[in-house]
Amino acid sequence: MVKVLVAGFKGRMGNTTVQMVLEHADFELVAVYDPMASEKNLNENPAYAQTDVPVFNQLVDIDTKAEVWVDFTRPDSVFENAQYALQHGISPVIGTTGLQDDQVIQLQALAKQKAVGGLIAPNFGISAVLLMQFAQKAAQYLPDVEIIEMHHDNKLDAPSGTAINTAKMIAEVRQAHKQGHPEEKETLAGARGADYEGMRIHAVRLPGYVAHEQVLFGGKGEALTIRQDSFDRISFMSGVAVAIEKIRAYQELMVGLENLL
Ligand code: NAP
Repeated sequence: MVKVLVAGFKGRMGNTTVQMVLEHADFELVAVYDPMASEKNLNENPAYAQTDVPVFNQLVDIDTKAEVWVDFTRPDSVFENAQYALQHGISPVIGTTGLQDDQVIQLQALAKQKAVGGLIAPNFGISAVLLMQFAQKAAQYLPDVEIIEMHHDNKLDAPSGTAINTAKMIAEVRQAHKQGHPEEKETLAGARGADYEGMRIHAVRLPGYVAHEQVLFGGKGEALTIRQDSFDRISFMSGVAVAIEKIRAYQELMVGLENLL
């Protein structure tokens, strides 16, 4: 049984993860963490009356035998959480997006120093992992590309971690270059979206959406669109489960679920 702590358990993804861990025959939920929690045990919530899982609402109070720390929290708290996990020999499985590149480098150095395995996955959905791989392949032949990501209107960071990761993977096979007319001007600020090495990234925020992405390629007289849709948060759970199962076999912090597939 892998002992699991879920950080951000009161949130949408955290709550879905709690359910998955409780239902999984090979996982044991040993603690949950969320600064907004006022209860002392998860069983104070009627939906989890049959459980016996301690609740923590401050990092300093956490006292656990957890082996894996699943994090679905906020861009402004994930770095501190991941540091805490690594320092305590707990393997972080980070779903929270918004970590800066220098923060990832610092966490990777800490993981190496502590010889603790960990994963940062901007997207745990297999459709998104495949989309990124297909997009990297397509960019070898069609280097003019724009990305449109669409999410629910409670998302804090923009563009999404998946969109940034898609752009990074494309940038590995594409020469950076400015796209569009060399003299184009925005008559409304932001009309052309964010700029990643000349690729434009557009972020849509609307109620009703969960997580969706399109990568558009244009060539002479032709176009290619690759699209993925995550309609339900349950779609991320098989990827989270794979990460929980496998991550303790590593001694480094990796980025991208594809490293474990
Ligand atoms: P959410 O519903 O807002 O949940 C976040 C939860 O974390 C909230 O309960 C929040 O409390 C709590 N929290 C805040 N600070 C914390 C801390 N320091 N430690 C522990 N918990 C803390 O958000 P969500 O929709 O579940 O998304 C969470 C993150 O996962 C986002 O970054 C999102 O982009 C990402 N995500 C990733 C994937 C993936 O496949 N990798 C998929 C979907 C979403 P408060 O409400 O009080 O702030």
